[in-house]
Amino acid sequence: MNILKRISSALLILIILFSCKNFGNRPPKKDVVASLMDTTVNPGIDFSKYAFGTWLKNNPIPAAYSSWGIGNLVNEDVLEKLKVINEKSMKSDAKMGSNDQKIGDFYASGMDSAGIEKAGISVLKTELQAISNIKNTTDLINVVAHLHTIGIRPLFDMDVYQDQINSEVYALYLTQGGIGMPNRDYYFNIDERTTKIRNDYRNTHLSKMLSLANFDGTKGAKAIYSIEEKLAQKSRKLEELDDPYANYNKYSLAKLNTLTPSINWSDFFSKTGVKNIDTFIVGQPEFFTQLESLMKTTPIEDWKAYLNYRLLIDNAPYLNSVFVDEQFRFFGKTISGKTEKLPRWKRVLNNEEDVMGELLGQQFVKEFFPPKTKKRYEDMVDSIISVFHDRIIALDWMTPITKEKALKKLSTISKKVGYPDTWKDFSDLKIVKGNYVQNMLNGQQWWYNYNISKLGKKVDRNEWEMTPQTYNAYYNPSNNEIVLPAGIFVIPNYKDEDIDDAVALGYAGASTIGHEITHGFDDYGRQYDEKGNLFNWWTPEDEKQFLQRTHLMVEQFSSYVVLDSLHINGESTLGENLADYGGILLGLDALKRTKQYKENKSIAGLTPTQRYFLGYALGWLGHSKRERIANQVLTDVHSPSYLRVNGPFSNIPEFYAAFGIQKGQPMWRPDSLQVKVW
Ligand SMILES: [Zn+2]
Repeated sequence: MNILKRISSALLILIILFSCKNFGNRPPKKDVVASLMDTTVNPGIDFSKYAFGTWLKNNPIPAAYSSWGIGNLVNEDVLEKLKVINEKSMKSDAKMGSNDQKIGDFYASGMDSAGIEKAGISVLKTELQAISNIKNTTDLINVVAHLHTIGIRPLFDMDVYQDQINSEVYALYLTQGGIGMPNRDYYFNIDERTTKIRNDYRNTHLSKMLSLANFDGTKGAKAIYSIEEKLAQKSRKLEELDDPYANYNKYSLAKLNTLTPSINWSDFFSKTGVKNIDTFIVGQPEFFTQLESLMKTTPIEDWKAYLNYRLLIDNAPYLNSVFVDEQFRFFGKTISGKTEKLPRWKRVLNNEEDVMGELLGQQFVKEFFPPKTKKRYEDMVDSIISVFHDRIIALDWMTPITKEKALKKLSTISKKVGYPDTWKDFSDLKIVKGNYVQNMLNGQQWWYNYNISKLGKKVDRNEWEMTPQTYNAYYNPSNNEIVLPAGIFVIPNYKDEDIDDAVALGYAGASTIGHEITHGFDDYGRQYDEKGNLFNWWTPEDEKQFLQRTHLMVEQFSSYVVLDSLHINGESTLGENLADYGGILLGLDALKRTKQYKENKSIAGLTPTQRYFLGYALGWLGHSKRERIANQVLTDVHSPSYLRVNGPFSNIPEFYAAFGIQKGQPMWRPDSLQVKVW
């Protein structure tokens, strides 16, 4: 499912949290942080193990997951609640077109495994026939255009977002894409792990997928791999996508046609519903030059194999079991290290979340996110903004003129907490009885139309890119906003009112609220002004100071070896590491203003400051399989969860004091190497 790809590289800054319901195995009255700790571990050696080592020992990663932690615990909790909502809708005699009808019929169609087996790939026959009929480049581009409108993204990616230079309008972004493995490095890295994955993809997976649909697997696989390898060759690396200027190149229609003469863009846009704009943003021009040379030299039969694979693999999770199994074998097992599939009901709910998660969210928040909880976290946002204000004023390295601009940007951050004020209108989404693949295609098409129809319209600053039940959050630089779904505040089996302020400030205030606000001032977000436009508001001297100070963090994280010889990419993870570090400092300042801190009473033998740091660590509770860690280092701008604890804490003097960290211990860094930005 490609709906998640709606989120641009500009929004790569989304925080991704990893994720058990074995929380449920303990009586909930146990202390929320103390019960996780392994006090036999010295906090100066490995704080993450000290903070939640007992939990790790008692909660191995289940076979169906590549990692297991707090995010999974929340997700499992949410899934159980959504299941009840779905089963109720399924039984209700809902009116055609109503939310209940859509929810109930979608869930029933996904659970109908006999019907799904019987249908096979028949729902895709129109598309398969169109691919088979391709005779020349014009036919090829016409089919590519149609596939884009149903959420399959061959050759390149195409998305609608706010224009990064002028956030008042929407722009069309044409960017690198079109490859099957998670990113370009999988095609070229020569370490043993990646080589094994690549050989499986090239020698087994591609041909298996094609053979399942009665195509010539061996010949097709060779053709597909050759196309993808060439596209990957001219795809930028993760760290190269982090430069907003280098990935923003304005093109007129004429210039676009010159870039790739083989594609008649005016025709392509008319077939894909792109209208009301006359300039286009090309992310990586050299990628499109490479595409042009491929268009000129690749035989039509090779393109047909490529398109067949794209169509089949993107739909594989909703097709009959042989497709589901092969998709899982390669992407679930080989790449991610999972050993069994999730049960069907969970897979169906995850897909339903992608198609119409806001419909589920409307019911979810009514039951599980009361106004009192919403208010607590809105107040927490205000408090974090207020302490950041004070911190900026006190900075010894920033000049007054840049401070003034930073404060202006901070004061105009808009906050979205829990759920949207207005919900998306799904009235024209058609969900039918008994045809799961069709429902998924309808959903993909709905999202495509929803996004493309924004072109030329006034920017909707009330929009949410995540559903309320999501365990995640984001900062959107184009809107200068933080978006904090209700799900991110949940600690399974604990009521919000039972969580003391110190733990809440660590868990939500630092790891989410402070983290997202800091994104507005990280290496990427700082390049946008208070209106959400790319504009350099830093003096050269302040910029130099910022880069020098943050460079220490690049070096710190690059030195962490997470697997065999695999290092963290200090460059590509910098924005997230800075946000973690900044979030902890802000949460700590907010803690100092609380009654709990001033009274300094211990709970479960832990001081408020200790509970704060442990609350932050709870936000990163979890562990991952080796395969997942390797995949994460190559594709994710977030560091593995234990380093999101140990890494930033090593830069915080109050942390050293709270847990008696000693010189020479792994968590200890000399003062000269401690990152000091905020
Ligand atoms: Zn983040």
